[in-house]
Amino acid sequence: MSTHCNFYIDGQWVEPAGAHTVHAAVSPGDESVVGQVMMGGQEDVNRAVMAARHSFDSFSQTSLAHRTALLEKLQAVFERRYEEMARAISLEMGAPWDWAYDQQAECGPGHIKATLAAAKDFPWETRSGANADLVCEAIGVCVLITPWNWPLNQIVSKLAPALLAGCTVVLKPSEYAPLSGKLVAEFVHEAGYPAGVFNMLYGDGPHIGPMLSSHPEVDFISFTGSTAAGISVAKHAADTVKRVVQELGGKSPNIIFADSKVDKAVRFSVNKCMSNTGQSCNAPTRLLVERSVYAEALQHAAEAGAKVQVIHSADKGKGIGPLASKRQWETVQRYIQIGIDEGARLLCGGLGRPEGMDKGYYARPTVFGDVNNQMRIAREEIFGPVLVIIPFDTEAEAIAIANDTPYGLAAYIQCADVPRAKRVARRLRAGMVSINGQGQDYCSPFGGYKQSGNGREWGRFGLKDYLEYKVINCAS
Ligand code: NAD
Repeated sequence: MSTHCNFYIDGQWVEPAGAHTVHAAVSPGDESVVGQVMMGGQEDVNRAVMAARHSFDSFSQTSLAHRTALLEKLQAVFERRYEEMARAISLEMGAPWDWAYDQQAECGPGHIKATLAAAKDFPWETRSGANADLVCEAIGVCVLITPWNWPLNQIVSKLAPALLAGCTVVLKPSEYAPLSGKLVAEFVHEAGYPAGVFNMLYGDGPHIGPMLSSHPEVDFISFTGSTAAGISVAKHAADTVKRVVQELGGKSPNIIFADSKVDKAVRFSVNKCMSNTGQSCNAPTRLLVERSVYAEALQHAAEAGAKVQVIHSADKGKGIGPLASKRQWETVQRYIQIGIDEGARLLCGGLGRPEGMDKGYYARPTVFGDVNNQMRIAREEIFGPVLVIIPFDTEAEAIAIANDTPYGLAAYIQCADVPRAKRVARRLRAGMVSINGQGQDYCSPFGGYKQSGNGREWGRFGLKDYLEYKVINCAS
């Protein structure tokens, strides 16, 4: 079955305006075509942006109570059609059923709930001096550009705060994961949002991205994707002085100190890196191990890597699925070859598909030891199930290697001495640090330092992006 992915503009499903190309969305699990994605052009961009512009005046003036009630309705639709969303995500980007259901689909209602909670005690109106009111207002027409790796997470972490703030929206989901975006549009329609408040179109990023980024009627762009595309968005947005928030790539360090339970720490680290088939921007992809436990760690890593199960995307179970596209599979193969050519020690995995998996974009969970931080496999984002292990001698050296990267999204520390771990955490140039496996909830800010981006999403921090701040000075 192949889904027809057209555009949702001004409250209706519409075909592209003029001549257009069609992108075949391929299920990475078995390489079958699951969607015919219409790819838009300038006229479609104009229609979507102007629909959002025309509805902004009225929607931004609605009460917070009204928008809260609408978002609660949207949450109810997400909950009712939860299984449908999990199925779409599994099909479009290959997440095996348990992962699609428990992790990927959960991001929808999860972010809506966190946004609703954040709005309750948000300082919408405060005093800013003896004779001044400070009011928060919707920033305007927002363009949301999202990737394929956590497709729903990226959409809803932007959409929920935008709608609650009173903004109107043009969403451009990844053409590689079009099905979840189509369902989001259906959900918004079903929740009863006024026509024009939410609009969605598909398109080839390098072609349609500049049209969206430079459009004079767009006020704000929230972009999640590769650093190269994020830079292009910012450049095209500069002439019209738009606010741009970028959530970009990562090459996150994970430091194992010798006092930790090394076998457990390594197992956790390997599994965390491989989860979502290594396609998470915050994946701990550089494992730094204190030299006194380095040999032991390599052994545990080889065993843990070999135990990572690769399963078919349609299957239930705890294994990882395929990479999300042929393009991504080829990228990962290229990097595995680069690692071999650079002289890193292959501990498990390697080139090609896992045995018996001849169809689909399945890759072998791969771990390299004896890596140094100057190698390309330690510096560049691979975005696949590939872990590199680097030894260090002192705490200062661990910090230096961890920070020696253009990225700064996340960092991880495994250490029995928690005060020491917290001290090291303060020295790491990263937006999110996890100590001893602690995860992050939807209320905490998600985002990075340096070339990992300049924004913070989720909860109260996510809400701030969609607001302008106005001071009203009034003589008494
Ligand atoms: P990508 O940059 O190729 O595409 C992301 C989105 O941007 C897609 O919708 C694409 O069509 C669009 N796009 C591409 N070129 C564009 C351009 N020039 N102008 C405007 N839009 C453009 O990224 P991807 O391969 O889909 O996703 C993987 C990347 O996303 C990785 O680098 C990953 O680290 C990053 N990512 C970051 C975060 C975060 O929060 N920091 C989260 C998830 C993914």
